[in-house]
Amino acid sequence: MTIKIAIIGSGPSAFYSAQSILKLNQDCEIDIIDKLFSPFGLVRYGVAPDHQKTKNVIRVFERILALEQVEFFGDIEVGKNISIERLKLFYDAIIIATGMAIDRPLGIKGDNKQGCYGAAQFVGWYNGHPDYKDLNPILDSNTAVIIGNGNVAIDCARVLAKNKSEMASSDITEYSSNTIINSPIKKIYIIGRRGPLDAKFTTVEIREMGELQECESVLSEGTLSQIPQTQDLDNLGKQYKILTSFPESNSLNTSSRKAKTIEFKFYAKPLEVLGDDKVNGIRLEINRLNKKNNVIGTGETFELKAGLIITAIGYHGEKIDGIPFDEQSGKIINKENIVDNNLYTAGWIARGPTGVIGTNKHDGDRVAKGIAEKKFSENKKGRSNLKDFFSENKIKYINKLDWQNINEEEIKRANNGAPRKKFIDFDEIYKFINK
Ligand code: NAP
Repeated sequence: MTIKIAIIGSGPSAFYSAQSILKLNQDCEIDIIDKLFSPFGLVRYGVAPDHQKTKNVIRVFERILALEQVEFFGDIEVGKNISIERLKLFYDAIIIATGMAIDRPLGIKGDNKQGCYGAAQFVGWYNGHPDYKDLNPILDSNTAVIIGNGNVAIDCARVLAKNKSEMASSDITEYSSNTIINSPIKKIYIIGRRGPLDAKFTTVEIREMGELQECESVLSEGTLSQIPQTQDLDNLGKQYKILTSFPESNSLNTSSRKAKTIEFKFYAKPLEVLGDDKVNGIRLEINRLNKKNNVIGTGETFELKAGLIITAIGYHGEKIDGIPFDEQSGKIINKENIVDNNLYTAGWIARGPTGVIGTNKHDGDRVAKGIAEKKFSENKKGRSNLKDFFSENKIKYINKLDWQNINEEEIKRANNGAPRKKFIDFDEIYKFINK
């Protein structure tokens, strides 16, 4: 019996799940459903446009998608175009792999002012995500503040700091590239609420910050003296060695200064975004370490003037009707990737927004094992039911062939060394595929 499987979401965890299922069970049909017109989720819209090597994993996913057993249904939102209940009637197993695409709110006064954006919005904007193409972030001041000490904060800072030639082989959208290149931003603060040795930056990412052509990376004055004496500085992880090798801002030789500066500022807790309707700064409280090495507020505050604030403090998942969801963590409630009988989940929506792309392989393996161990007896119709449902309800969608044509066109129409020029809105897509 051919097992009929629907995967909701088409990012890394969706494709690794499909890969693992196909390894264990050749006799299956897998339909990958996404609310966007394009597959690959985080790799297309989250990974930075200048990190094309990371995006190469798409080639693996393309080979999976090309298999006869696998089909794509793009521009289909589960919960809106079709319910989970109906999918359960059509499929033997359903895997929710929708990722986490909503910014965790900073939750301080003023964080809804114009000029303050979550990283999901800002990254979505420069990566051509249809939901954020009209964000038009205000980049009209000379200072930006990025809150958070993870790789997403680094990505945002790097994209703001690179010059045109450093971005030439990226697939950044033309509109955002022009806005960034023409912006007056010269100073970018990256703010951590804890110390440099608590930062979550990884080695490759932090190393890149020291190699920017027109931007110097520095630590705020006094950073190094704040590192606890108990730390064995000779045996730090590589990423911390690189980070702590950046000069402090006051020791920079002014004659060798580059046009832009990224300043890492630690032990600072955001208190309030300042300005009227529009951001003009941020007030922060100085944190310090107590005897147990926990950070505590000192009550002492300072302000940074800035016209742009980006929060990169983690993500939250989106609830789908009919799926048990933990509002606090933003995850689907699951036990080792199993939600209930025939319902599985994988990736960030299952375990939270951590890990690299390859981390999702483990989720895929567990889901595939769960499915392989099950005995399916009903002869469900899967794809043919789904297609009939869409045609009866006049719901249009992007299929695998459409996507392959879109992909080819994006590559064909790219110019000036860019690997592709992305389609950005749905009208443009439907016009192109003539549906
Ligand atoms: P992350 O690595 O979890 O970092 C989140 C940062 O936000 C932490 O420094 C955290 O500080 C801080 N934070 C949280 N709440 C805060 C608050 N209220 N005020 C101030 N700071 C706050 O998350 P991420 O950067 O979003 O990255 C998500 C995952 O994607 C990570 O696994 C990351 O490595 C991965 N990623 C990888 C790459 C790459 O490999 N190139 C690129 C992008 C993302 P605390 O530590 O104090 O909680």
